[in-house]
Amino acid sequence: MEKLIIAIDGPVGSGKSTLARRVASLLGYIYIDTGAMYRAVALKAIRRDAPLANSEALASLAEQTRIDLRAGDGAQQVLLDGEDVTAAIRTPEVAQAASKVAVAPGVRQVLVAEQRRAGQQGGVVMEGRDIGSVVFPDAGLKIFLTASPEIRAERRWREHQQKGDSIDLARTLDEIHERDRRDSERESSPLVRAKDAVVVDSTAMEPEEVARLVVMLAQGLTTAGKAS
Ligand code: C5P
Repeated sequence: MEKLIIAIDGPVGSGKSTLARRVASLLGYIYIDTGAMYRAVALKAIRRDAPLANSEALASLAEQTRIDLRAGDGAQQVLLDGEDVTAAIRTPEVAQAASKVAVAPGVRQVLVAEQRRAGQQGGVVMEGRDIGSVVFPDAGLKIFLTASPEIRAERRWREHQQKGDSIDLARTLDEIHERDRRDSERESSPLVRAKDAVVVDSTAMEPEEVARLVVMLAQGLTTAGKAS
């Protein structure tokens, strides 16, 4: 059966990772979390004290960085220059820094090229902010996943609680608004809904319902492709 490129974009906490992982597992596709790549570059920048507003410095940092994404048990393993940083990139500090690093066009150029290499064969579910609009504008299926800011903040807050991080809900909501603003207002590849994306609002949906819906859409497309 034809193997699609499935692009899943949307704002922070809309449920992209859960959805992309589940859809990849149901279809036997590879899962690629592109946000992890921006987070990895951000972690390196923080460790080196690189100025997060200097686009040129960040671009050359990205050029000298090796990021490997490996399918692990459920979650994706992230290696930064050979070091396992899977847990280290999941802090609020790295999340904020990632959205600053992601503003630099040179950083985006390097990471988008790697994302295209990783997904070009198809059979991939790739999640991010610009997958359907920039990385794979010809993706076979594009999903734009959204949810209300309050629900997104609550989901993110619960994830931190489960990890034992103490962070309050109001602050999580503020941080989400801040990242939404930076992601939507940047000049280079802002978060936008591709015109041909299917918009799914997950505010009142269970994760499994959303995954089944996307799998049905994907199966409809591959069957239609075979019949034509
Ligand atoms: O998805 P996640 O929250 O891990 O992404 C971290 C940051 O990386 C986002 O806030 C966004 O600024 C940036 N990003 C991006 N383009 C992508 C994926 C993530 O700009 N394709």
